Amino acid sequence: MLDKKAQSFLETLIITPSPTGYESAGQKVWKEYLSGFSDKVESDSYGSALARIQTNNDVATVMLEAHADEIGMVVQHISDDGFVTLNKLGGSDSTIARGKKVYIYNKRGRVTGVVGNTAIHLQENKNGGGKQPAWKDIFVDIGVSSKEEALEMVQIGDPVTYTDEIEFLNDEIITGRALDNRIGGFVIAEAMRNLKKRKKDLKVNVLALNAVQEEVGGFGARMMSYRHMPDSAIVTDVTHATDTPGINNKEHGTVKLGGGPSIQHGGANHPALVSLIEKVAEKKKISVQHEATSVRTGTDTDSIFFQRTGIPSALISLPLRYMHSPVETASLHDLKALIELMTETVLAMEPDQAFSV
Ligand SMILES: [Zn+2]
Repeated sequence: MLDKKAQSFLETLIITPSPTGYESAGQKVWKEYLSGFSDKVESDSYGSALARIQTNNDVATVMLEAHADEIGMVVQHISDDGFVTLNKLGGSDSTIARGKKVYIYNKRGRVTGVVGNTAIHLQENKNGGGKQPAWKDIFVDIGVSSKEEALEMVQIGDPVTYTDEIEFLNDEIITGRALDNRIGGFVIAEAMRNLKKRKKDLKVNVLALNAVQEEVGGFGARMMSYRHMPDSAIVTDVTHATDTPGINNKEHGTVKLGGGPSIQHGGANHPALVSLIEKVAEKKKISVQHEATSVRTGTDTDSIFFQRTGIPSALISLPLRYMHSPVETASLHDLKALIELMTETVLAMEPDQAFSV
């Protein structure tokens, strides 16, 4: 289990809505927590948040990074009879939307809606499982009967999330909406908390970046890494646990829930930084898993490593089942191991730490 302070922060961070492009409520929670043990906390114009532990102006700076946004939906259209059509923010899967409840957020507060699911009796295929719907086929019922009534409650462009929050299946397994990647914001926050406690052993400066708009192209990470140009970056995001039925391991690799954080190899992942992470894992007896990045990592790492003259970067991922669904599922064992690995890697860095191949 996590300590009380961490557990309550994790729960608040995950349930606070933060869909792509609308991250400010979640960022407020993150910044408030970080301000308890950082030397400085700031934001840029689009809302990416940065916390800093400064040891000495003359030493190297490492950045810990996660993205602050979750996938979601947005109000696209309202019909004359008051039904709301959605579009996706990031990679939201339209085939799992029907029959679920959503929250629509705006300045006036929060509206609950149900995603209509035409009764099986009325479907053309009486066995259910009709044609896979696209977002344009999905409609939300907010309990009104006209466009005018609907417009008193919601407007075009309001962000939407599922109503799911988080739950523990047992002491070990957490499930919920938005683990991708609010749990990454949690990881870098807890690593900062550890580093602050062990500041006398810390030989580098540390930035923690919780970046906006990853799910649509890694934009927040680009802006902030260009601005601050750290000497290296350790990024964390979720990765696919491939240990559930129907996944081809030959195609997608072998990652087990509970098997430890997954170290990524190749592409944007700098070999010397990856090697340092592996050495630290071995020394601290942290079990890890391995993945090949192939072309892109599909995370903010891709946005960070090539800024200006290059930032040696590495991605350490948290295994996650059912990514981009409201029942994303992760293991606390992996979560704690990831925080420890990140913390210990930073503590292993020398004042003049540089990476070359
Ligand atoms: Zn992610």
